[in-house]
Order: sequence, then C-alpha cells, then structure tokens
Amino acid sequence: MADKSRLSLNTATVKSWTLEQCVEACVRHGIPALDPWRDIVQKTGAEAAGKLISENGLKVSGLCRGGMFTGEDEAKRQLALDDNKKAVDEACAIGADCLVLVVGGLPAKSKDLEGARTQVRDGIGGLLDYARSCNMPLGLEPLHPMYAADRACVNTLKQANDLCDELGEGLGVAIDVYHVWWEPNLEQEIARAGKRILGYHVCDWLVPTRDLLLDRGMMGDGVIDLKTFSSWIEKAGYDGLIEVEIFSAKNWWNKPGDDVLEVVIERFETHV
Ligand code: ZN
Repeated sequence: MADKSRLSLNTATVKSWTLEQCVEACVRHGIPALDPWRDIVQKTGAEAAGKLISENGLKVSGLCRGGMFTGEDEAKRQLALDDNKKAVDEACAIGADCLVLVVGGLPAKSKDLEGARTQVRDGIGGLLDYARSCNMPLGLEPLHPMYAADRACVNTLKQANDLCDELGEGLGVAIDVYHVWWEPNLEQEIARAGKRILGYHVCDWLVPTRDLLLDRGMMGDGVIDLKTFSSWIEKAGYDGLIEVEIFSAKNWWNKPGDDVLEVVIERFETHV
C-alpha cells in the first residue's frame, strides 16, 4: 500500500487548473509533490513558479516534458535541441527531480522508424552534455507502441535501458505503468533499470480504451496489477515519489478537481 507522503500530482490530471490552482490544491489535500507541465509553468514564469512551489513546501517529481527530438531536417532538430535546453533550465528553476522526456515519433512524411530512433539517440546525446552541466537528470519515458508514429519511438523499457547503457551518466528512466504494463520480461527490465529509475507514474488501463491518448483510467478501474508493479519498482530500489497521471477527456477532466483529488488519494492508498 502506497503512503500519501509519496504521492505526486501530475498536473495533467486536473487539466483545467493553473499552476497556482494546482499548488493550492496540493496544500489543501496534503499532497506533498507535483509534476507540472511546461505550459502552465511558462504561464507563471519558471522562476516565479519555483518560488511559489518551494514557498508552499512542495516537492517536484519532474517537469513534463522535454523531448520531441525527431525532425525532417537539421534545422528542425536544432530547434528541438534549443527548446530542450530551455526545458532543462525550467526544470532547474522549479527544483524538479528530473526532466521527463517524450522522445518524438516519425518525422513528417517519413517511414524510417530506425532512422527516427537514431535521431532520438543523437538528440538525447546532444542534450546530455548540457543537462549534466546543470545537474538535471533526464528521465526517458518509453511510450506504448501505439504512439510510435506520432509521439515516441522508444516503446519499451528494454529499449530505454539499452539507451541508458549506451549514453551513460545523467540519463535515467521514467516508468509509466500505462505504457509498459504489457511488456514481456518487465520485472527483469525494472530490476535492470535499478538506480536509473527517476520517476514512477501510475494510472490504469481501461477495457475497452476508447481514445488512444485521453482515456486513461483511475487506479483500480482497469487491468493493471498495480501492487505487483509497485513491488517490482520497490525491489529495484526506487523509494521516491509516485506520480498520478490521468488524461481523461471523457471522464475525470469533466469532474471538479477537488473531487478528483479525493479519489486519487483514496485509490493511491488502496491500489498502488
Ligand atoms: Zn507518464
């Protein structure tokens, strides 16, 4: 059973709220941490956001997100790299544990998946020097293969672990149950990730899933064996924050945020 002291709110769970509203709600509900998305951090301004978060005694499990390294030409990839450096700066400004990376899918009009994966490796490699100089770990998040074309062509934890082996210090993994729950040899790959685990994201997989992106379930409403998953994460040595991240256009986003958070806390304590 997960203790509330490890709960972190991924702000996409309460999509309509500003950063200020998210911070106030965390305080109100006794949630000790959050993982904000860049758009709401930028609206507040990264420095002001960092001040607001720390003054309210909250921790930051990550900044969502950097990445999108793939592009059809050099200029596009350079733009992505520049934007990622800015994301590293923002992650530092808000005191994030890591910058979460969603790496990007196929470039426009391309069918070259292996080429895209090479671009991702080179993109992360290019960002790593800068991230290391800022002491900001990069949390590579493998995404479910249904997103290989348009969001991320790193699709398994094994692939992410291989990239960590190749690129070394400063790169770790953010493990989201939604993306890898189906993966063969998952327990071994989680153990292999070990100290490289920088983030652990939870929600649930609904049957049926009605939207590829925006129909994530609340913990306990789907088919993921969250307690077993958590036991593997724990065995691998990760004892940090656990993020609840639920994109749910048809259900949870339509409910009042405070009601959602009450359910989040209850399910976190009983199902994770
Ligand atoms: Zn995630």
